[in-house]
Amino acid sequence: MTATTLRLSAVAGDGRASLSGRVVVVLGDQPVECELVVPDGKVAFEDVLPVLRQLTDFIVDRGAAAAEAAGRAVSCRAGCGACCRQIVPISQSEARALVRLVAALPEPRRSDVRRRFRAALEALDASGLLAEIDTAREGEPAAAADIGMRYFRQGIACPFLEDESCSIHPDRPLSCRQYLVTSPARACESPSPATIETVTLPVKPSQAWLVSDSLDSGVAWMPLVYALTYDEQVPPPGPARTAPDILRDVFSRLGTRD
Ligand code: SF4
Repeated sequence: MTATTLRLSAVAGDGRASLSGRVVVVLGDQPVECELVVPDGKVAFEDVLPVLRQLTDFIVDRGAAAAEAAGRAVSCRAGCGACCRQIVPISQSEARALVRLVAALPEPRRSDVRRRFRAALEALDASGLLAEIDTAREGEPAAAADIGMRYFRQGIACPFLEDESCSIHPDRPLSCRQYLVTSPARACESPSPATIETVTLPVKPSQAWLVSDSLDSGVAWMPLVYALTYDEQVPPPGPARTAPDILRDVFSRLGTRD
């Protein structure tokens, strides 16, 4: 079988020295040859996150195309933000990336987004779910599913949701990228496994990233709304591993289905 070639880059064109290399990732039963360009030297996990974003988009596009070919068109559209009231599990590195992104926003948008983060946390605290989430964080990422429905019923919109659309679409977390449905959009207003049909993906990069990051950092998953508070309370660990070292570990975990 001929391998598809995919170019994945985590280099921003800021003059930093880079490394390039190739790796073959098997997605389902298809090999995908990846040409990688990453920063040289020691990096933080979030510095290589663009590679996982690009790989995730590739996997999701193929999954969506396969679903459409099977008569299951994707019903997600800009302006439908029903799923953006669900709990969004992210890694500490994704939290750091979101903090960087918010810090770079122009005013008054930056202050608006920070205010929405504070409001979301206050609403969670008032609901009594904060303590449950902290307990669930000590378990497997799937533990989020146990409290997911109650979180959703609180109607707490993601701080990045504006006019029912994602205001950070190119930079949204991996788990948001992976979530596409083929069931009617209305079903997402009251999501349950009985009514929601998601696009099937051969692998879930968000889980590989989360496990790898958590084992490296010792920090469990967190809901997206924790991101700014977490960064205020815990200083960034700084660059500690090379990009090839990080990606080798993440790619080795891609074989896991859920
Ligand atoms: S980051 Fe964007 S896609 Fe993800 S929950 Fe928030 S608004 Fe929705």
